[in-house]
Amino acid sequence: MLNRIVDENKIKELRKLLEVTEKIVITCHVGPDGDAIGSSLGLAIVLNAIGKSVKVVIPDLPPRNLMFLPGAKEIVNYGRYKDFADSLLRDADLIFALDYNELNRIDRVAEAFAASKAPKVMIDHHLAPADFVDVKISHPEVSSTAMLVFRVLCRLELFPYIDKNAATCIYTGMMTDTGNFSYNSNDPDLYIVISELLKKGINKDAIYSNVYNSNTPDRLRLNGYALDKKFKIYDNLNGALITLSRDELNAYNYQKGDTESLVNKPLSIPEIFFSFFFREENDYIKISARSKGEFAVNKICEEHFNGGGHKNAAGGEFFGSMDDAVLKFENVIEDYVKQFLDNKC
Ligand code: 5GP
Ligand code: MN
Repeated sequence: MLNRIVDENKIKELRKLLEVTEKIVITCHVGPDGDAIGSSLGLAIVLNAIGKSVKVVIPDLPPRNLMFLPGAKEIVNYGRYKDFADSLLRDADLIFALDYNELNRIDRVAEAFAASKAPKVMIDHHLAPADFVDVKISHPEVSSTAMLVFRVLCRLELFPYIDKNAATCIYTGMMTDTGNFSYNSNDPDLYIVISELLKKGINKDAIYSNVYNSNTPDRLRLNGYALDKKFKIYDNLNGALITLSRDELNAYNYQKGDTESLVNKPLSIPEIFFSFFFREENDYIKISARSKGEFAVNKICEEHFNGGGHKNAAGGEFFGSMDDAVLKFENVIEDYVKQFLDNKC
């Protein structure tokens, strides 16, 4: 038996909304990861199974290694099909916001989302959820939105409608947001849910292989280059920074998702407790940050890099050159580390 965590009143509100709903749109954040896509597709499959007309609308395409997920090919890419997506959002009876806590996280979809008169329901696990929905199911203590979707579906008595396909999507979200159950993964309920998903027929080994064994030669070489030539360790701070410029990315025919887990690599050194990765996009620098233990990288991303996220996994954006981004990072990081170490003593 799972512990109950979602407030009964919210479940009642959601049940009521679903009763009078025919057309549903599910949205998730820009640069979608396994949890964003997995939770969205998992929910879509179950709501479809109970007779709803459901579309998943996202700002940009999922990475290639998630395209094996059931329903991934039917996702509506807002960037490509804006008019169609606008009409879906406008005509929807209900809109879900999955795996994000602020409207700006859905980028170009935000305007049509906000303009739609449909009631909106958030299911999310990021800290500090903003007020842009009617029903807010926000649980930062849950390791993935996918796991939260599973909990909500059970409470709605829709567990029987979770088939192998939906279970595959939900498991993928749970697996990717915990680094294959290597962080945020001490909750015993996690393993109860995995057990239920296995009984639905998922092949967890195949899911792992689809998601993680998805290298191309260029991708592997780019990561090798980054670790060999662009990996700076700040010995006095026990932290690391990796940077890749546009030219460097182009030299290895960079495709979205090619540097997906690069930021985690420095943390495999026992002494290193934080790691940043700066990737040059066309008009800004994308920041990814990871940490171990109590060192909160979301705070740094919020305060200096227009971003946020979780304590141990966060990100943001820097509008300026790579050199300026590095300069800013080096200017601010020392104080955070000092403060952290002072508090620990
Ligand atoms: P990643 O490094 O995998 O791109 O992002 C890790 C986590 O950081 C995401 O799950 C999300 O919570 C957060 N994050 C990443 N980029 C941004 C951003 O630009 N803004 C905010 N608010 N959060 C971000
Ligand atoms: Mn997530």
